[in-house]
Amino acid sequence: MNYTMADVVIVGAGLSGLQAAVNIQAAGFTCLVLEATDRVGGKTLSIKSSSKQAGINDAGAMWVNDSNQSEIWKLFDKFNVGAVVQRTTGTSFRQAEDGSTISHPYHKGTSGRDDDRANEMRRIYWAIHEAVETSDLEHPETSADAQKLDTMTFAGFCQEASPNIGTEIASVVTAALLGVEAHEVSALFIVNYIKSGYGIRVITSDEKDGAQYIRARRGMQAISEGLANELTQGSIYLSTAVESIQEKGDGLYEVRSTAGMIFKAKHVVVSIPTSLYHTIQFTPPLPENKQKLGESTALGYYSKVALVFEEPWWHTAGLSGVMTSYKGPVSFSRDTSVPEDDQWSITCFIVGDMGRAWNKYSKAERQEAVLEQFNSVFSTATAVPKPITIHEQIWSEEPYFLGAPSPVMGPGVLTSLGSDVLRKPVGNIHFVGTETSVVWKGYMDGAVRSGQRGAEEVITSLRG
Ligand SMILES: Cc1cc2nc3c(=O)[nH]c(=O)nc-3n(C[C@H](O)[C@H](O)[C@H](O)COP(=O)(O)OP(=O)(O)OC[C@H]3O[C@@H](n4cnc5c(N)ncnc54)[C@H](O)[C@@H]3O)c2cc1C
Repeated sequence: MNYTMADVVIVGAGLSGLQAAVNIQAAGFTCLVLEATDRVGGKTLSIKSSSKQAGINDAGAMWVNDSNQSEIWKLFDKFNVGAVVQRTTGTSFRQAEDGSTISHPYHKGTSGRDDDRANEMRRIYWAIHEAVETSDLEHPETSADAQKLDTMTFAGFCQEASPNIGTEIASVVTAALLGVEAHEVSALFIVNYIKSGYGIRVITSDEKDGAQYIRARRGMQAISEGLANELTQGSIYLSTAVESIQEKGDGLYEVRSTAGMIFKAKHVVVSIPTSLYHTIQFTPPLPENKQKLGESTALGYYSKVALVFEEPWWHTAGLSGVMTSYKGPVSFSRDTSVPEDDQWSITCFIVGDMGRAWNKYSKAERQEAVLEQFNSVFSTATAVPKPITIHEQIWSEEPYFLGAPSPVMGPGVLTSLGSDVLRKPVGNIHFVGTETSVVWKGYMDGAVRSGQRGAEEVITSLRG
């Protein structure tokens, strides 16, 4: 039977798989990348804004920073993607569950406020901050209060800090970060996730050092394409979904695609999310703890709708483009314009349970619901024109993603399986992907770091 041979086969051409491939080839080994979809980039996906404007919109990952996200920033710089600093000026809106809307200055949060709600929010913030400070970054299950935190959900944790608004605020955090409700996830998992992103202030910030500081003029997918271009020609097989990985007695692994193509390699690097491991048949089966890991992680609901406009009407009206809503379907929005390209857009994030409910409607109904909410909020300040284009990206309906941005763990998973299970190779099968990173898990920086770590494992073994 015909097959293609390489030292290493990588499953998945997202940032983690591509970074691993670049490092392995740079070390002098042959390496092929098998990607299920017809493009590279995984959850980096950049699309043309409109037929009228030159710019792009990022339908997947969108922000980086130039300080604590050093690994993705090196690539951002190297591939000359073009930094657009997130606009953080103007008036923002908050919409209550009943649809009533109030305005406030950009991201002032609770500072300067002394009402009961602000005080409770500060209590929640400090409880999270303290738990993050005292937890262990690499092995959260060894932290002093790990057992306690891993038996509770994040909703329960925040409720302890504030019985009145704890669960509500907890879900604002988990939906925005991971597209899930706070009762779905372990408190220990979320505390560790926040710690891996340098704490609650950094991970929620749109300003210098924050997770939402810089966007890419050419789009984040340009980084993935930059990595792909560094590989020797013919290294990437697009539209090649892997269905099985079998260990053969001769020290080789046989990797089969759904179309029946066969690849053989000494090492395999799996770069797909843990919650997708079940889509590949491993022979022999993965060890029990690796299987349990796959079964007990899930991806959140994280959709984006970008509204592209002819003019920056909200700039003229002194608005930031930011709204946060407890009513939905949109949970929050950000200005995603690129002034240099005359690209004017506001991107709406539709996440967690509000997103799951919205997803049941037809495309036309979904767009109508978004526009109705958007108009009702922004028209409290100014006339809102019709968008010239609407881009909708629903990650949970993409068969090789099934959700975004990164798998989450419910209570009891970290303390029973431990965190090393994420990274531990099985024979010569190695596991990368953003959630396996110690730093910035769930983010592009984490994906790149995990690819570097996976490549190092393979190179050391091949040289040894
Ligand atoms: C809407 C959204 C917003 C985000 N915002 C940000 C942000 O602002 N900043 C940030 O840093 N991060 C953000 N992220 C997260 C970031 O995109 C991810 O952390 C990162 O891109 C993950 O890379 P990865 O290589 O680990 O996984 P992926 O990108 O998921 O790559 C895995 C690849 O494997 C492929 N694959 C799956 N199954 C198979 C199979 N059987 N055979 C072959 N190939 C397969 C997939 O098609 C995919 O290409 C966001 C993500 C989303 C979706």
